Amino acid sequence: MGNHVVDVWWSDLRAMDLRLRSMLDPVEERRADGLASAADLGRFVVGAVLLRVAVAAATGQDPRAVSIDRTCDECGDPHGRPRVAGLHVSVAHAGPLVLVATSPDPVGVDVEALDRGPDVETWVRGEATFKATGSRDLAGRHVQPLPVPLHGYLAALAFDGTGEVGVITHDQDESAEALERAKASSPGSASP
Ligand SMILES: [Zn+2]
Repeated sequence: MGNHVVDVWWSDLRAMDLRLRSMLDPVEERRADGLASAADLGRFVVGAVLLRVAVAAATGQDPRAVSIDRTCDECGDPHGRPRVAGLHVSVAHAGPLVLVATSPDPVGVDVEALDRGPDVETWVRGEATFKATGSRDLAGRHVQPLPVPLHGYLAALAFDGTGEVGVITHDQDESAEALERAKASSPGSASP
């Protein structure tokens, strides 16, 4: 396979703000309602809104107009990996960190805490590959480490097929600015 480009967005729980919940769609809102811990809620809300912001940046849409399909391949319930028309996306969280990737090609990202177990690197690489391809087989796949903006964590990025990969990184400050802009945009200014 040829070359790939990917936009990688980092954020963290510091970006959590209950006003972000107004950006959620009804399916996401129900899921958020079911999350008991503040950390789980923060990771989910920041991840869901950062995904909208990242897709909006790639497509030129309004973040509120981005439609996210979370249908599970196994059972049809809305808890599957997110899908967006016309773009490939991957979302991961660990500890306070939230990671979103968008690409024209199927892409997978994962981030895990180093204290998760003895072979976190293998796990992270396998998980990113699984998200990109549906298999943990690394043969013929491009897998690379991603620099993580916090000590004690490892992250990886995967594509099916080998080739050059251009990574555009959006750090936590850039994500925070984009989330602020999204919050400031008036609800209802975009068509559903
Ligand atoms: Zn399911």
